[in-house]
Amino acid sequence: MMVLEIVMIQMKNTDKKIAIISNHKPQSEEVCRALKQKLRQNNFILTSKNPDVVISVGGDGMLLSAFHKYEDQLDRVRFVGVHTGHLGFYTDYRDFEIDKLVDNLKLDTGAQVSYPILNVKIILGNGEVKTMRALNEATIKRTDRTMVVDLIINHVHFERFRGDGISVSTPTGSTAYNKSLGGAVLHPTIEALQVAEVASLNNRVYRTLGSSIIVPKKDKIELVPARSDQHTISIDNRTLNLKDVVRIEYQIDQHKIHFLASPSHTSFWNRVKDAFIGEADK
Ligand code: NAD
Repeated sequence: MMVLEIVMIQMKNTDKKIAIISNHKPQSEEVCRALKQKLRQNNFILTSKNPDVVISVGGDGMLLSAFHKYEDQLDRVRFVGVHTGHLGFYTDYRDFEIDKLVDNLKLDTGAQVSYPILNVKIILGNGEVKTMRALNEATIKRTDRTMVVDLIINHVHFERFRGDGISVSTPTGSTAYNKSLGGAVLHPTIEALQVAEVASLNNRVYRTLGSSIIVPKKDKIELVPARSDQHTISIDNRTLNLKDVVRIEYQIDQHKIHFLASPSHTSFWNRVKDAFIGEADK
């Protein structure tokens, strides 16, 4: 009975379909080659179609690209990141830890760590609705003139914003662009969105809150541009230039991103410390 159970687990793991997505840096391509060889030796199935596990090789940007490539399969896919530089926010393994990764995949029981993502609906003047998902953030900006938008939270007109732009970030995205904007770092188990200003105009005539705000799950954030000319909307590492944006709606998506839970999944506070503080003198 015991022997049978072990065999069944092994069969399950070697049947696992794995996709690898990498940037074209020589170091990443080298890691990719070695990883593919080790996975094949251990009878994993390498395929980009309907994978169970997606491995990104590169940095956080590569994990963002992997997320967007498989964002329509989030319920069945688990992600894992290999970093070819220093440890990133979405990457659990360094390039010299491939053996450890393959060993963990062999022992994998399906455990996962899940984080909230952002759902963005962009409503255009011609009635078109673009629905997108962000892992880090969605940012709306105007570069040529002051951006003027009304910020509405749960149907309450909160403020008329004037400035360069507004970023709405996820908890895992709170350490990315949001942090550079002076936003708070949010633990990813807190299901909330953060609205951060980009260079707001604040004087005797114009007024915004001036600090970032954290909005709980189920609350809806809306931005209504006062002018219909071109806005630049960035969703993670992609950028759209759109005219006649009538409204943008932001909510926590009903799906989450799942990461392979493994002994190498470093704690969030360790990552924050490693990235921003390091070993400071005591
Ligand atoms: P990039 O190559 O310019 O990377 C920007 C940096 O952001 C990299 O060091 C990356 O490791 C880091 N990063 C990405 N996600 C992170 C996260 N969740 N927490 C902490 N650091 C994170 O750009 P890219 O690779 O295309 O990544 C796009 C992301 O870069 C955007 O989603 C945005 O958050 C971030 N960004 C930041 C700034 C800024 O801080 N001023 C400006 C533009 C973009």
